[in-house]
Amino acid sequence: MKRNVGFVYAHPDDETFGCSFLIRQIADEGGNPVLLTATPGNAGKTGRLGAMTQEELAEKRRIELQQAADILGITEIVHLDMGDGKLKEVDQDVLAAYVADFLRSHQIEVVITFPEDGISGHADHIAIHQAVNKVVFGGQAPSVQKLYYNCLRSKIDVDSAASLLSISAGENWQVKRDALAAHESQIWSIERVFGDLQQVGPESFDEECFLLVWERGVYNPNKQEKSIFDDLV
Ligand SMILES: [Zn+2]
Repeated sequence: MKRNVGFVYAHPDDETFGCSFLIRQIADEGGNPVLLTATPGNAGKTGRLGAMTQEELAEKRRIELQQAADILGITEIVHLDMGDGKLKEVDQDVLAAYVADFLRSHQIEVVITFPEDGISGHADHIAIHQAVNKVVFGGQAPSVQKLYYNCLRSKIDVDSAASLLSISAGENWQVKRDALAAHESQIWSIERVFGDLQQVGPESFDEECFLLVWERGVYNPNKQEKSIFDDLV
């Protein structure tokens, strides 16, 4: 059976930073990774591309995201085109309704999103985290069986994080490097985390961590998993 996995994020590149190994693995195993991105990410910097209008940057980032998606094996991208940097200001029920609609219409079985602190503390990331919680915990997307937060190991209490799934780069470090490089306008933040993409080797790519926080109504189940597909019905 082709499993539908939904990645729910705020900006083009959030998925590549945190989930490249996982997405490529799902695609390689015959699963169906799909992405919701809430904003065009057009309020920020343009890297070495020089001055751009917000419209130009939105268009550029859409192309970059499609390139990264092709490298990672994402089969479909849903763009909400909400305001970059403004997700906290929109009606939170409206944001949650969009998330619910995405999860239902794609019959998503496993959801991946930001942890409580949004990984970076970005307000848009936290708004997405809260919207996903509301929808999944509230039973608004009945196809969903599991919810994972994409976390940094350094930021979680490992003792209480019973069901932490770690995915190491293996052969896929080059896939992640190439997908990151596709997000050309974001090169400064990419270099801050990963270094110069022309120079980096496998050692520059840490594991990706996914904390299972909810499984068919059970919060924080205590289990050791080998795959996000374990125990799906
Ligand atoms: Zn982001």
